[in-house]
Amino acid sequence: MTARIIDGKAFAATLRGRVGARVAALSARHGLVPGLAVVLVGEDPASSVYVRNKGEATKAAGMASFDHRLPADTSQADLLALVDRLNRDPAVHGILVQLPLPAHVDAGAVIDAIDPDKDVDGFHVINAGRLAIGRPGLVPCTPLGCRMLLEDALGPLRGLNAVVLGRSTIVGRPMAQLLLQADCTVTICHSRTADLAAECRRADVLVAAIGRPAFVPGDWIRPGATVIDVGINRVVGPDGKGRLVGDVDFDAAVAVAGAITPVPGGVGPMTIACLLANTVEAACRQAGVPVPGDAA
Ligand code: NDP
Repeated sequence: MTARIIDGKAFAATLRGRVGARVAALSARHGLVPGLAVVLVGEDPASSVYVRNKGEATKAAGMASFDHRLPADTSQADLLALVDRLNRDPAVHGILVQLPLPAHVDAGAVIDAIDPDKDVDGFHVINAGRLAIGRPGLVPCTPLGCRMLLEDALGPLRGLNAVVLGRSTIVGRPMAQLLLQADCTVTICHSRTADLAAECRRADVLVAAIGRPAFVPGDWIRPGATVIDVGINRVVGPDGKGRLVGDVDFDAAVAVAGAITPVPGGVGPMTIACLLANTVEAACRQAGVPVPGDAA
């Protein structure tokens, strides 16, 4: 068997198009322009690229983009003061503080200071709690994108055995909550799991988010399973050139799985598209108007 490749890049482009249509409808019907503020502290090269891409995608969808680039030695008090201003700014509907923050800043305190209804990353404890008890809230973008890809590939996920590798607050835990909400039977694995291979082999849906290059071998995958590879790991190939690989041994997995996301071009592009979708949702909730339908 050769697995079907789940094209996250194409799906993300479609989602961004839908977001653009929702933004146009909001502007026409309510004069509402969703606004996203992105805060970057310091000059970490990878973070700078993410922030630039987020700003460009925000503008391309017709939304307002507010970039705040602060020096690496910005104090926690100054950062909290900026978050407070953004919380009170009616043109800003979503706030994203790019992680990681410099070591002298308490990232938890900064995230706690964001208005939960503007927390488009979905990292605030209030949104984590809402997700855990099944209330509407803002959901972390990467797992949200994974669920969209899964539902697009498989339809309803009800009754499937889902195994999530990784329990971070950014990916693994919210992913497990979303799969539970979708009526899967969910197993969460981590570095202390006794028999990872046996857990993985029971999975109809396997989501790998551990940050270890090509860690999951082909013989851990149940034949026909759907594999979502969240991992983004930079490795040096035999030719001495750097390249990105996932947490799954793609070449081995593709021969066993029913469907699989590639790295790059799978989950990665979904994250920014979901950030845009979250910003529209946050804007609608703050304005008390419904999110325009996709036919709009
Ligand atoms: P973290 O480092 O925060 O968490 C990794 C998790 O994997 C932990 O729960 C850890 O277990 C578990 N783990 C690590 N090693 C093993 C192992 N050998 N066996 C079993 N479990 C293990 O990573 P993130 O969740 O932030 O990211 C995971 C991956 O996803 C990374 O490659 C990252 O780059 C990528 N990523 C991709 C995104 C995208 O847009 N596509 C967005 C975010 C992340 P324990 O808790 O026991 O330590």
